Amino acid sequence: MNFLKELFEAIIYFLFPPRCPNCREIVDERYQLCETCAEKILRVDFSEEVPSPIEKVLRVTKYRDGLQPLLHKLKFDNNLNVLPAMKRILDDVSNHKEVLKLLSGIDFAVPVPLHAERLKERGFNQTELIFEEFLAKKNIPLKKILIRRVATPKLYKYGKADRQKILKGVFAAIEPVDLRGKKILIVDDIFTTGTTVSECAKVLIELGAEKVSVLALASDFGENFH
Ligand SMILES: [Zn+2]
Repeated sequence: MNFLKELFEAIIYFLFPPRCPNCREIVDERYQLCETCAEKILRVDFSEEVPSPIEKVLRVTKYRDGLQPLLHKLKFDNNLNVLPAMKRILDDVSNHKEVLKLLSGIDFAVPVPLHAERLKERGFNQTELIFEEFLAKKNIPLKKILIRRVATPKLYKYGKADRQKILKGVFAAIEPVDLRGKKILIVDDIFTTGTTVSECAKVLIELGAEKVSVLALASDFGENFH
């Protein structure tokens, strides 16, 4: 039986070799980025500009000239086939010293919520899907305690000042909750101007949170600030 299983796996490997999710180059393991794409996309670093009241912002990949095409497939084509590649990226950086520094002392994580209408339209909150396994492996609970009360327009075409106006008061706690003393990590797929996570953080701080940091899958620090 084992021989047959191995033979079967060898045939599958031969017919469908693992390919880089970004450029389709053949790689060693499934969902792994090829060396060229890894070099281009992976970038683990803290932002030097951190919007109040957030303490630290860490991203693990570049967005433009980076993860953008894969993230677009997930968010705008609802293509869940790219999800394992993103989980693999988080897996690959999970013991990076900056990641360990960010996660140290965190009580729980909060995903940036989608508005109910957007959630219904897309069928999933991509941020939760991207981060849930990573956080589970790190023993950090993912708590969906925030709600997006207003369906805001897509923000990519707006500058920072407009985003602040659009997002003011948009987020709230789903139910009354006491966050005194809690160290919270907001997770988001893309960090651009930081307005969205900053508004989420304000709600958490008002509820007593001691510290709020951010882990973003992708970002272009500096380049997108308006
Ligand atoms: Zn590649």
